[in-house]
Amino acid sequence: MLNIGCHLSASNGYEAMGKDALAIEANTFQFFIRNPRGSKAKEVDLEDVKSLLKIIEENKFSRIMGHAPYTLNPCSINERTKEFTWWAIEDDIKRMEYFPNNLYNFHPGNHMGQGTEVGITNIINMLNNILKPTQTTTVLLETMSGKGTEVGSKFEDLRKIIDGVVLKDKIGVCLDACHVYSAGYDIVNDLDGVLNEFDRIIGLDKLYAIHLNDSKNPLASQKDRHEKIGEGYIGKEAIIRIINHPKLRNLPFFLETPNDLSGHGREIKMLREAYMCNV
Ligand code: FE
Ligand code: FE
Ligand code: ZN
Repeated sequence: MLNIGCHLSASNGYEAMGKDALAIEANTFQFFIRNPRGSKAKEVDLEDVKSLLKIIEENKFSRIMGHAPYTLNPCSINERTKEFTWWAIEDDIKRMEYFPNNLYNFHPGNHMGQGTEVGITNIINMLNNILKPTQTTTVLLETMSGKGTEVGSKFEDLRKIIDGVVLKDKIGVCLDACHVYSAGYDIVNDLDGVLNEFDRIIGLDKLYAIHLNDSKNPLASQKDRHEKIGEGYIGKEAIIRIINHPKLRNLPFFLETPNDLSGHGREIKMLREAYMCNV
């Protein structure tokens, strides 16, 4: 079975996300643990946690994924932003532990002119400060498009970060289809080549999830603008090859396409129909 969901709003609580997922025949989803732009995170409501855990269990959901606010920057030049980021990501992971054995994804960061190497050192320091041997959450580095001073648009960047992390079994990668395409990895004409390169540099055993997005911009544009499935430069056929690829097909896929809930439901239905069952 295809493991697929989309990004859902957490504003009505955990159980509401589970119900939204069920309403569109998703069997996983992604959500922001705190306000994507700000710092606030509600007190954890244990009854609400229990209700979502029940939905997850009864409906045999695949791993769900928390996403860090996109305003954070683990390698900010501004000491206060950096400290806040480290604290917020640590707090997010603690909250993910209410849902054991799931995934938490963050953008590696923007080096802001300090250079990629300094950025990478900061990201490694953060991870070595906050990862705990006892945690059950796997923390994922997202592949980035390379806009501005983003770290993580090259597989080599991610490899260096993983190399520096002590608790390697707590860390992995989430591949964003729009971002890798904008970064110059041609998943349309050479998906096998890109996956071989990923395997050679990072190792496919480190790949835990896919952000399934089309792209408003062409290959190597270094822009980060998601498009609906089939309406961008990646196109429906290439996306269908991604979900069916033997090395990817069992991973959880998360749509971050510009859609409302019913739009995501239509994409999920189309992708489920395009998923080959007996290969
Ligand atoms: Fe992201
Ligand atoms: Fe993404
Ligand atoms: Zn993006």
